[in-house]
Amino acid sequence: MIMSSFDYLKPSSLEEASKLLLENKNSRILAGGTDLLIRMRGGEVKPEKVIDIKNIAGLHEITWEDGRLVLGAAVTWTRIKEDAKIAEHFPALTQASAEFGCYDVRNRATIGGNIANAAPGSECGSPLLIYNADVIVYGPSGERSIPIDQVWLAPGRTNLAEGEFITKVSIPLYPASTKSAYRRISRVEGQDLATCAIAVMISNPEEIAAREVRIALSAVSKTPMRAAELESFLSGKAIDGETINFCKSWMHRNLYPRASSLRGTPEYKKIVLGNLLEDILREFGVLAGELI
Ligand SMILES: Cc1cc2nc3c(=O)[nH]c(=O)nc-3n(C[C@H](O)[C@H](O)[C@H](O)COP(=O)(O)OP(=O)(O)OC[C@H]3O[C@@H](n4cnc5c(N)ncnc54)[C@H](O)[C@@H]3O)c2cc1C
Repeated sequence: MIMSSFDYLKPSSLEEASKLLLENKNSRILAGGTDLLIRMRGGEVKPEKVIDIKNIAGLHEITWEDGRLVLGAAVTWTRIKEDAKIAEHFPALTQASAEFGCYDVRNRATIGGNIANAAPGSECGSPLLIYNADVIVYGPSGERSIPIDQVWLAPGRTNLAEGEFITKVSIPLYPASTKSAYRRISRVEGQDLATCAIAVMISNPEEIAAREVRIALSAVSKTPMRAAELESFLSGKAIDGETINFCKSWMHRNLYPRASSLRGTPEYKKIVLGNLLEDILREFGVLAGELI
């Protein structure tokens, strides 16, 4: 039960929603409510105004325009999971949607709410990072686009200014030869966030010299992160057992997951991420030779 009282507002335009946010300092956007309502029930947040954005036209749309996939902020994880075209072009996102929560939660939880919630282990984190997504926000100065790697500042904190909220996520399309994947482990399937997760993308997998590797990791730092050094190491080179051993030792030397995490020790997460990376590279068919 929510003990504090609040006004429920349901604007029907971007302008109205932004105005309400700006005028009411202690207000919160409501999308699926799967994070917000739990926090309100727990008394962790006590907004005076709850601004439901689900009545705003366009926020529920999935469109393909100018070589990009555009997801409205109120698109649910169920719709992402069930969209065959998303699975074809962005398998890491589809795999993340399949790992996400359980049936009921996926039916309500939105991509915009997941981004705005800014959890280090959020399902959207690693896939959106490897795909270089842009987050489109609307606010008092109109629309602006924020590269995904600049959206999250810390757990629960984003780069959104006062009166701004997320309206869309825009992801560029990649050539058909591009491979990508997402893997996560969690303690309890369907009821828990990721203990840790990884997304990997390889452009030009068949041409070693032209290969570009992108790797993103979740739940090992304050925000989901790209592993830039590892990406440079793996790009443009043949990948064998020795390379994989380097990647695993890189995880040990360069990751500093929170020791107080309830979901896994730092040591455990580093070992798991090294193994998941190896699994993905094997599945992509780019790993030659046996481990030494
Ligand atoms: C049982 C359970 C299992 C879960 N499993 C997972 C999981 O496996 N993986 C995972 O990542 N998460 C999981 N979650 C967390 C949650 O479901 C997700 O973070 C979800 O995507 C949040 O979206 P929502 O639409 O419900 O957001 P809401 O709860 O409506 O909002 C969350 C926060 O974001 C803000 N917000 C929402 N939309 C916008 C917007 N468009 N612009 C700006 N701010 C906005 C709200 O004000 C609020 O602060 C789980 C939650 C539960 C209860």
